[in-house]
Amino acid sequence: MSYSVTAPRYSILNTKVLILNRSYLPIHVTSVRRAFVLLYQGIAKAVNEQYQTFDYESWSDLSISAHDETIGLVSRVLRVPRVILLVSYDRVPKRQVRFSRYNIYARDKCTCQYCGRRLPRHELNLDHVLPRSQGGMSMWENVVCSCHDCNRRKGGRTPHQANMPLVRRPIKPQWTPFMQETFSMSRYKEWMPFLNTIDVSYWNTELLEK
Ligand SMILES: [Zn+2]
Repeated sequence: MSYSVTAPRYSILNTKVLILNRSYLPIHVTSVRRAFVLLYQGIAKAVNEQYQTFDYESWSDLSISAHDETIGLVSRVLRVPRVILLVSYDRVPKRQVRFSRYNIYARDKCTCQYCGRRLPRHELNLDHVLPRSQGGMSMWENVVCSCHDCNRRKGGRTPHQANMPLVRRPIKPQWTPFMQETFSMSRYKEWMPFLNTIDVSYWNTELLEK
């Protein structure tokens, strides 16, 4: 199978396709070009709006309606899949979410974890729940977003010592760089049924707050 090598950069072949694992969990985003290769090699199947899966041959045989996106190959016109499924892959790849100021602010929704006020980024800083002077580590479970007032008031004390209980116990977020990427780029309506398992609007809002 060959595609026109002269396909320009903005070609439909370079647009995005969502990859699901065998359990229909979204795990990656790829190009239409790569999706067709995976489909052709039998590694992936195309998924339609009714969650039906198609191998390369049955996908090729689909009748094409006027509103479908298509690409023309040498001998035939094919519908462009927006979702594909890896037939023998059932894991979710492990990716570490970066332990960064930005991601901590995102996790805590720019809200002071002591007084509960939501503030602009420049009015916030990071607080070690168990202070470093008492052996507190710099890790997801021990660092929270805090306003300057609360940070000063708490000083080198634990929340218990300072009588300043946390709004929420800090945990490591379950989202991954893949999800951030997916949410920050334009999405296709065909992806939405598979992304709904994740709180899209919440993370999207955070990420737009650059
Ligand atoms: Zn505060």
